[in-house]
Amino acid sequence: MADDNRHRSGPVSTEQISRLVEGAKPAVFWSDRDDAPDPTPSLVGKHSADLVIVGGGFSGLWAALQSLEENPNRSVVVLEAESVGFGASSRNGGFCDPSLTHGAANGYSHWANDMPTLHRLGEENLAGIVDTLTRYRMKTPWWKAAEVSAATQEWQMEELGDAAEQAASHGHTATLLDQEAMRAIADSPTYVGGLSSHEILLVDPARLVWDLKVAVESLGGVIHDQSRVTGIEPDGSKLIVMAGTGSAAGMISADKVIVATNAWAEPGKYIRHYVLPIYDHVLMTEPLSAEQLSSIGWSGREGLADSGNQFHYYRLTEDNRILWGGYDANYYFGNGMGPKYENLTASHELIAGHFFQSFPQLVGLGFSHRWAGPIGTTSKFAAAFGTRHKGRLAWVAGYTGLGVGASRFGARVALDLVDGKTTERTELEMVRKKPIPIPPEPLRYAAVQLTRRAIVRADANHGKRGLLLQILDRFGVGFDS
Ligand SMILES: Cc1cc2nc3c(=O)[nH]c(=O)nc-3n(C[C@H](O)[C@H](O)[C@H](O)COP(=O)(O)OP(=O)(O)OC[C@H]3O[C@@H](n4cnc5c(N)ncnc54)[C@H](O)[C@@H]3O)c2cc1C
Repeated sequence: MADDNRHRSGPVSTEQISRLVEGAKPAVFWSDRDDAPDPTPSLVGKHSADLVIVGGGFSGLWAALQSLEENPNRSVVVLEAESVGFGASSRNGGFCDPSLTHGAANGYSHWANDMPTLHRLGEENLAGIVDTLTRYRMKTPWWKAAEVSAATQEWQMEELGDAAEQAASHGHTATLLDQEAMRAIADSPTYVGGLSSHEILLVDPARLVWDLKVAVESLGGVIHDQSRVTGIEPDGSKLIVMAGTGSAAGMISADKVIVATNAWAEPGKYIRHYVLPIYDHVLMTEPLSAEQLSSIGWSGREGLADSGNQFHYYRLTEDNRILWGGYDANYYFGNGMGPKYENLTASHELIAGHFFQSFPQLVGLGFSHRWAGPIGTTSKFAAAFGTRHKGRLAWVAGYTGLGVGASRFGARVALDLVDGKTTERTELEMVRKKPIPIPPEPLRYAAVQLTRRAIVRADANHGKRGLLLQILDRFGVGFDS
């Protein structure tokens, strides 16, 4: 299949696509539930704590939980600007991958010497997540399954072949699939083959956020929602963390602070040099009937993604919906973030069209939800780390599109850093060395747009990377979702 079949007209008219997208609720499926927890009271007045964590996503909650498990006497307070999980943590695809480096290929291209350690730490991290789910008897639905990359064009098979060889040369298993084998996993007429690689967890991310919240509180941690941190100032041996405004303002005198605000890169400007917010769009279908599901197969309930530079990721939910996201990642001038960027009809219509091109047997199925979320990305597509205020503050951000699992590791590293510990983790090059900074505006916007166009061209040109992408590859930098 030489052409990108997604650029051909699909089995559903553009008018029907518009109607289907319009009919979907503009809300995050995972957190649109009656049993979503009520927000906790915001921080008001003056307090003190041993450790304050800014940001109540996976990074912040894993930092709180691991800190309390390690040292039950430590007083830990989490300050969240909206309510826990408001950010990427409850809006994602729920692919919980052992990779700490946004995939093995990215890891080998940046930190080849550390990869054996990073691989082992990633496996231990995933085992730690399973252990936490089990030990706290969490309600989060999750299962183990293979991650499968589907090729929709022949040139992608070459890249998957390289990935299989790379995996084999490092002692890992990855099985190349011909068209028949790929279509036996999930039946799309667009597939020309695929690669079945390592095992991942598929989780319900919002439920995991809520379970982590309960676990943190059960160990004595305090969580304040609606407490946006506006500043962190040194005061002798303490750090003063200020949150909220006016009568809803509060402050905490803290020994140590971890900042885990990811794409928001708040407060202060130091994280923004390294982290870019990219909006990624997601659709959730209505539940599939038994016949609709059997028309695809997918009995292994694998985590699927196609293999272009611009790609979709998709999975089943517990109640047999399909989450379909990715492909059209958008950056807005000046690090634009907020609700006005989350309801981009054109992006949702684009991926809705791709959905029916991929699974024409599902024509007639509707979408129940549509949403978008900010991915914090760095020039090396993996988390960046830093410290300030003589090491009393540590920050972690920028897992790009693979932070559901890696955020537990990122939190662990931030705890090591803020506790002044030298560990195997803090010695990793990806922790010691920051990624190349992303230029400020107006260069930032121009650089992202040029790179995006080059990526689109590469996909349209059998994967051949033009001069700009080759130069960026040479320096090991880029933009990704
Ligand atoms: C649409 C989408 C799909 C994705 N799919 C996957 C996937 O399938 N697998 C995967 O591994 N990764 C995926 N990711 C990435 C993954 O979700 C993130 O890497 C991960 O959730 C990051 O967690 P975090 O806690 O660092 O950040 P976030 O969850 O973004 O949390 C940051 C929190 O900080 C809060 N905050 C911001 N400013 C302040 C302030 N001043 N004071 C207090 N709080 C503040 C925010 O409200 C937010 O709740 C996806 C992301 C998106 C957006």
